[in-house]
Amino acid sequence: ALQFADAQSVLDNIERQFTISDDTLVEIAKGFLVEFEEGLNNYGKDMAMIPTFVTGVPDGTEQGTFLALDLGGTNLRVCEVVLNGDKTFNLTQKKFKVSDTLKQGEASALFNYIAESVDSFMTTHSKTDYTTGRKQGDSVYLGFTFSFPVEQTALDRGKILTWTKGFSAKNAVDHDVVQLLQDAFDRKHMHVKCVALVNDTVGTLLTRAYISGGALIGAIFGTGTNGAYVEDIAKLKKLDGSPAAAKGGHMVINCEWGAFDNSRTYLPMTPYDNTLDRLSINPKYQTFEKFISGMYLGEIVRHIILSLVDAVPQAILFKGKSTSALNEHYGLDTAFMSAVEAAWIGEDQSAEAFELPPLGAFDDSKLNDKVQPKLQRIKTVIAETLHYKPEDISFQDAAIVRSLCALVANRAAALSGTAVAAVLVQTHRARLPGDTTRELKHQNESVIGVGVDGSLVEHYPAFQDKIRATLRNLVGEDVEKRVDIGLAKDGSGVGAALCALQALKQ
Ligand code: ADP
Repeated sequence: ALQFADAQSVLDNIERQFTISDDTLVEIAKGFLVEFEEGLNNYGKDMAMIPTFVTGVPDGTEQGTFLALDLGGTNLRVCEVVLNGDKTFNLTQKKFKVSDTLKQGEASALFNYIAESVDSFMTTHSKTDYTTGRKQGDSVYLGFTFSFPVEQTALDRGKILTWTKGFSAKNAVDHDVVQLLQDAFDRKHMHVKCVALVNDTVGTLLTRAYISGGALIGAIFGTGTNGAYVEDIAKLKKLDGSPAAAKGGHMVINCEWGAFDNSRTYLPMTPYDNTLDRLSINPKYQTFEKFISGMYLGEIVRHIILSLVDAVPQAILFKGKSTSALNEHYGLDTAFMSAVEAAWIGEDQSAEAFELPPLGAFDDSKLNDKVQPKLQRIKTVIAETLHYKPEDISFQDAAIVRSLCALVANRAAALSGTAVAAVLVQTHRARLPGDTTRELKHQNESVIGVGVDGSLVEHYPAFQDKIRATLRNLVGEDVEKRVDIGLAKDGSGVGAALCALQALKQ
């Protein structure tokens, strides 16, 4: 019994470490406000708060046909986007592989390839006759979603700061990315003009605004996490003295909030978070992202599971056995967590409240006929994904794994909600608990639009509900009820098109 007590305390300890109290979430939201302001005032801060030079958001009436390019992952995407002016759009796209040779060779070769891909798309895939209905000569306008760090100085100008994600093309860093692209179009005598450079988070915001008639925030919860929102230019002190500042009004800010708390002031790190960070390719960077995003959540769960497999004096999971899938660095995809949660919820959609009995008191024969099939389904997911033999997985193992996945996902959702709440406070739409002085504006705005994208929000069961629960706790039900969270898929294509349109208007 003493041994079970020891093991139980290990589990209790994990639960305690991964549960963030509402009071702590409030302090984290305040931390966001501090870092927002630092980034708005200065260059070179952890949260970069990058000005995008996008000075308005769509309302759904926008019309036009544009090309869009998306470079930032494994594939290069070329799209044609038709904005119908009634909140709907049509999108045709083709993906092109970007080889490692191109990623790591000369920038001119990479951009030549991009131009060739656009050319090939226009001749074989596009349905539009690009020569009709154009105002300026016969140029086709293109928006470029480029998801690498860029210091933007205009809607169509931005210097590449550094490559990430396996790219290292030479003679690109410190160059204007729009110019690199335009030069490649011009070398091929293509009548394509790149008029806008967009980050994918900004694309998500603009897309949501277009399809729903307006939006304040765009947020990505996918491989990484980031957010963009509409800010008063007057608060963008680092632009003081610039033409944009003189014009006043609003500007979309790309927060780069994945870097929140790189100073490790606010987020309660567990030993698992520290291990993950230490073994990552970017220790001490993207601290917030490592608590939230698809790239890392599965890895955190993997570390916890291994610690329970290895627990002394007695193993807590899987009879002390591991598998090669579980031993592999990043061997457990966040999709596993979604699958476990979906298996638990099941087709009846009832997320049964289930108290995990104390270790040693788990009795398979006492599982009721709702809980037993749920745990059985989780056992199947574990066997298939982690390659365990079915006989090595007990019902108790399944129940423990499910609760671990829920702990890590709930923490991610609570922190995601905290970031959104912080933007609501930053933009004077809400106050944090205990604050009675912050000036409130926009109080008769009936809907506050939040566009989201990424596998985590899209596929983790009830992730949005969990975000909402945190919003209620941090900014109150009255504000939370007005917040409309909606998916904005295809953000990199439609957002680039919307941005190109705005560039032509400005
Ligand atoms: P990106 O952010 O690169 O555009 P996605 O939004 O598709 O792409 O996110 C991919 C990330 O989401 C990967 O880190 C992967 O581990 C994770 N992921 C993939 N499928 C799921 C799922 N069903 N549930 C939760 N996370 C998932």
